[in-house]
Amino acid sequence: MAFSDKIVLITGGAGGIGRSTAHAFVREGATVVLAGRDMTTLAEAVKEVGPGKADHVVADVSDAESAARMVETVVARHGGLHIAVNNAGVLAGFGPVADIDTAAWDDVLRVNLTGVFLSMKHEIAHMRAHGGGAIVNVSSNIGAHGRLAGMAAYAASKAGVSVLTRTAALDHVADGVRVNAVSPGASDTPMSLRPGESRADRAERMRTAAPSGRVADTSEVAESILWLASDAASHVVGHDLVVDGGATA
Ligand code: NAP
Repeated sequence: MAFSDKIVLITGGAGGIGRSTAHAFVREGATVVLAGRDMTTLAEAVKEVGPGKADHVVADVSDAESAARMVETVVARHGGLHIAVNNAGVLAGFGPVADIDTAAWDDVLRVNLTGVFLSMKHEIAHMRAHGGGAIVNVSSNIGAHGRLAGMAAYAASKAGVSVLTRTAALDHVADGVRVNAVSPGASDTPMSLRPGESRADRAERMRTAAPSGRVADTSEVAESILWLASDAASHVVGHDLVVDGGATA
């Protein structure tokens, strides 16, 4: 029970990787608060993860006031915030750069990058005033490699998350706040399905697309997040842990 008495905020907590991460933290004794924009999905996720162990807060991380309220609500209801997983993200704005819709570009950057900044801003402000904490941002292996054509908006947003993680880690290590990231490759959620692709089609594609021959199970990403957030990683600061079955090795 590595996380007994810990309060953990997970943005995008009702989605695939977020929900798996919530299950893993609860298994280790934590209380989790799942954040997202849709109350119905959040309530259903709380029921699945474990009422009494899980709570939810409706928040849009791309909105400055909403992100501030999200952290205030967690602290007001649970008396503190020890760990935050900034996992909320969207995949949109497809196409070659010359054809990317400007509004879609703005939206992807606002959720994926500004959302992580706004979340961390308020999480860290609380943590540094209350004995420290640990933050894990969910980036992507595409952020460091630009692996796929037609995904410039998403790739740029995740490159931003990875470097924001490193600089935030330097800014706040002396405050007792450890900031790290995970960079998953294709993981078993609808986000890794191409338009019109079934899970079976994706499994076939992944046989050659990744050295591991498969997508990650969301639990494999979750366990990496737990390790980075745990005391076992107490001297790990500003690290970006790639979880992609060797796709970018
Ligand atoms: P998912 O199931 O779609 O989960 C994304 C979550 O983010 C949803 O719960 C969504 O909830 C929430 N969200 C989106 N916009 C938000 C906003 N403005 N404010 C608050 N919450 C918001 O996708 P996933 O695959 O689990 O992805 C989780 C993270 O892993 C993302 O950052 C993604 O980029 C990253 N990642 C995924 C893969 C993959 O292959 N699946 C690979 C690399 C990285 P609402 O829409 O209800 O708000």
